[in-house]
Amino acid sequence: MPTKSPTIIIGHKNPDTDSVASVLAYSNLKAKLGESVEPAVAGPLNNETKFVLSYLNIEPPKLIENLEQKQVILLDHGDLSQIATGIDAAEIMEIIDHHKIGDIQTESPILYRAEPVGSTCTILAKLFKEERQSIEKKIAGLLLAGIISDTLFLSSPATTELDKKTLQELAEIAEIEPKEFAQKMFEAKSDISSLSVRDIIGGDYKEFECHGIKFGVGVFETLCPEKVREFDSEIFKELLELKKENAMGLIFFLLVDILKQESFMYLVTDEEADLCKQSFSGEIKNKVMFLPGVVSRKKQVIPVLTNALARRS
Ligand code: MG
Ligand code: MG
Ligand code: MG
Repeated sequence: MPTKSPTIIIGHKNPDTDSVASVLAYSNLKAKLGESVEPAVAGPLNNETKFVLSYLNIEPPKLIENLEQKQVILLDHGDLSQIATGIDAAEIMEIIDHHKIGDIQTESPILYRAEPVGSTCTILAKLFKEERQSIEKKIAGLLLAGIISDTLFLSSPATTELDKKTLQELAEIAEIEPKEFAQKMFEAKSDISSLSVRDIIGGDYKEFECHGIKFGVGVFETLCPEKVREFDSEIFKELLELKKENAMGLIFFLLVDILKQESFMYLVTDEEADLCKQSFSGEIKNKVMFLPGVVSRKKQVIPVLTNALARRS
């Protein structure tokens, strides 16, 4: 009998710190439980995640861009548009996520764990407890980074009491001062010196569908939005290209100011502008809508856009 190849544990396309950290932590937990698994990422790492892994001295997971013929565990996503290619010919074993339930379908019953918390890493910390496994120092650092990243250090409206409590516990195990660590992570995230405009709009880009209308939303979180704003005209050009390439009905880019807790929504054509005017009450200047208090795509943007699209059709 050929030996069974390990189950792949993987996060979404355009990986973020939460998806990479939860993949590594879950692989660690599964190994402790005697299961054969392999951590993977569906794309290149962003600057924040690179910083976290090198700070904790952890090897990045292997890059797997095609899931064909593999058994997979999906973390931090539940929408088909966010899964690495080849999922049609793969077998989904488990999903652990903290987003809305998406459109993934499976042939057999699976373990589906979804909780409305701020990060997948929060659920992972809970799973270690449920399995009565202790969390190693490095793994605690990873989980801490995932929570900090997804909740913008507990400031995003997606943050729950459980995220706050878990962050404190993990910081103690990891022996990391969370405020300083968050600052370093956000500085790494804000460093655009090595990024192209396409990297900025596409590094954290997700696609959605509502009433047959496909729309993409890119997010870039930064401590210095003014550095990104210098490239506004290129950003609009690149957005139009991305919209065409991916055959999207609408495309949006949200530039988030982590410190001021506000954002700038780029409105590439009149169609995007009309939908945003129906959805938000922000002031528009040079095709960019100012949105005070808006920082979360998942909580404050997608539900609002989806609602407006549903009303329209
Ligand atoms: Mg994510
Ligand atoms: Mg997440
Ligand atoms: Mg995020």
